[in-house]
Formats: sequence, structure tokens, C-alpha cells
Amino acid sequence: MSPPDCPILDPLGMTLDQFRLAAAGLGLGPHQALHAYRRIFRENRPATTAGRLWAQANPGPIVHALEEQTPEGPTVKFLQQVSGVQSGTLSTRPGFDTLTVESVLIPMIGRLGKRSYTLCLSSQVGCAMGCTFCETAQMGLIRSLTAAEIVAQWFAATHLLDHAEARDIRNLVFMGMGEPMDNLDAVLQAIRVLCDSNGPALGASNITISTVGRIDGIRRLAEFTRELGFHRLGLAISINAPNDHIRSQIMPINRSSPMAELRDALLAYPMRSGGKFCFEYVLIPGVNDGPEHARQLADYLAPFGKWTRDTLPLGVLNLIPYNPRHRSPWPAPTEESVESFLAHLVELGVYAKRRRTKGRQMMGACGQLGARHIRSRRVVEPTSDGAPIR
Ligand code: SF4
Repeated sequence: MSPPDCPILDPLGMTLDQFRLAAAGLGLGPHQALHAYRRIFRENRPATTAGRLWAQANPGPIVHALEEQTPEGPTVKFLQQVSGVQSGTLSTRPGFDTLTVESVLIPMIGRLGKRSYTLCLSSQVGCAMGCTFCETAQMGLIRSLTAAEIVAQWFAATHLLDHAEARDIRNLVFMGMGEPMDNLDAVLQAIRVLCDSNGPALGASNITISTVGRIDGIRRLAEFTRELGFHRLGLAISINAPNDHIRSQIMPINRSSPMAELRDALLAYPMRSGGKFCFEYVLIPGVNDGPEHARQLADYLAPFGKWTRDTLPLGVLNLIPYNPRHRSPWPAPTEESVESFLAHLVELGVYAKRRRTKGRQMMGACGQLGARHIRSRRVVEPTSDGAPIR
């Protein structure tokens, strides 16, 4: 192939094996491919042969970064540019020719006092799920990201962001914009790349997928965790309500996948020994924060086991104080109500922890991601059956 015709490979969406195949198509050997793959992921250095550029990472540029100090260190929200919508009605509308993806770096202090970071990844621009407490839902679904665009968020945080601490990314959570189960092929391919030992080399046990509870997606994920190397992948479920009545009001998915069905799917999930589901519960004042709600929630979670001095259940509940979205009908809960709800759950034998709020002022906390300029142009209605509308 003559140089002008030679494509430049971008490994962000490829495992090493896939990259080797693509490199072989350019007449390059497996060792050259291995060195190039390692150098690109570890040092962000392009690959050249005989002075000819043939492979480099091509992540979208970071167009905006915001920082908020917390006791554990700076929380950093960054916006990365991706290409716009290529076809359909949206492609002809102004404002959709380029898009931004939002990701958040969240500091944690470990048991030994060392700081590391969790990177919250987006799987879509916008979201079709329509959860009423969530900022991203206000955008509707704009488009799903490719595997390369998902990996590019890790790449940008590691190599492009002007924060040295970003190199200590220990954990990844799919809790940014979008419902990962609505874009599962790309999410699973991204996970394969992120776990490639010659690439980012993250452990599957350090990656968690969070879902509103798409039962078909949970079953597919169960199959994926049977593949070698992925059985320790984490699964988080946004519960957010103690009963179907409340859940269907704040999470439309519940109308087609009620809580009992969701629980059955989870109880059938091949959770590894010692592993736990992470149940997320956003505490919203006046909606799901009463003592009777704590009791109903404890009953719902009872089949996963109770927390006693000698036993840990199969699930841990993360209590998340509601972070108000723009034009929110609800305020954030008071400290007292969060502590009292948590104490109630613990009394009832629920293994529950409180998630510390980080990044709320810069709209970088849980449920607060979403491009402001697109939010007012909602074009995709939320789905009630969990299937994305295209
Ligand atoms: S909470 Fe998650 S699934 Fe629900 S609308 Fe927001 S991004 Fe989508």
C-alpha cells in the first residue's frame, strides 16, 4: 500500500488481537503491532515505521474542564468533543454537528491513606430512560457512543487532562450519561479494551456497570461474565424506590420491568463468590425518604441476605442524597433526613452505606450530567419499555 493510501490505525476501540489483525492488513508484523499498541496506550506516542505514521490514538479533544475541591482532593468534570449525529432528523438540526461527552474524576482515599481516582464514564450522549430526577434525562437520547469513544474518556483523563493525579485511576464506573445496557455491545467491547493487559490493563473487578434494571441487559451481562477474565465485573442497580408505585413514577423502565422481575433476574445472576450487587438509592425528599419506605426497601432486599455481625449479604445499598438537577421540583435532602434513613435501614439489617456527594456545585455529581445547550431541545421521548428509540 503506498503511503497516501495507507490508513492510520486508531487502537482505542480495539483489543491487541484486533489491532494486530488490522496492522497485518498494512503489512506490519505482530511484534511491531504489540510495541505500537503498548506505546500508544501507555505513553500516548504514535507509531511510525520508516518515517511513516501508521497508528495513533485519536481521542476527541477536551473542550472544557471544571474542578471542585473536596476533602479527598479535587473532583474534576471534563467535556470531550465527539462527532455529531451523522444521519436522521437530528443530523440536519443546528447544534448537533459536534457533541460533548461528560466524564468525572472522583477522588478517593484508600485504607492506607493513599489517594486514587474513580473515573465515571458515559456510554451515550443523553439518555432515553427518562428518570425524572436526572439531568441527563432532560436531553433525551442524542446518540450512543462507540467503544473507541468510551475508551477515549479513559485515554483523555490519563493522557490529556492537565491533572497529574488522573494517572492514579483505579476504578471505572459506567454511571455517567446514558444507560449502558442500551449500548451494551459498545460497552462490552470498551471493557475488553480497557482490560487488555497490553493496553490500559485495568482489572475487571475495578469496573462497574450501572443500570436502571434492563433485565435483558442483565442476562447478557451474565453471559459476558462467564468469559475468561470478566467474572469479577461489578454490577450496580439503580433502585431508587421502595415499591413499584413510586418507582414507576420516577423511573419509566419500571412500568415494563417491575421490581419483582428485576429481583428475580438478579437472584439468577452468576455473582462470583464474595461478590456483591451494588444497589443505588437516590434519596429524594418527600418521594422515597419516609420510615415506611425504609421498611419496604428492607423487605425488598431481604432475599439478598441480612447484615449481621457474622454475615454479609449479597448486596450493598449505596444511599445517595439527591443532587438537584436544573429546574428540579425537589430540593436536596437535609443531613438529618439522610442520616435518619440510613440508621433506619441499618437497624432493619440492610447493609447500607452513604455515598459522599462530590462535585454538586459544578453539576458533576450523580444524576447531574448533561449539556445545557441541548437540554432545551429534547427530541427523543423517554422509553417505558427500555428499548432505545432511534
Ligand atoms: S439516571 Fe441513568 S438511566 Fe436514568 S435518565 Fe439518568 S442517565 Fe439515564
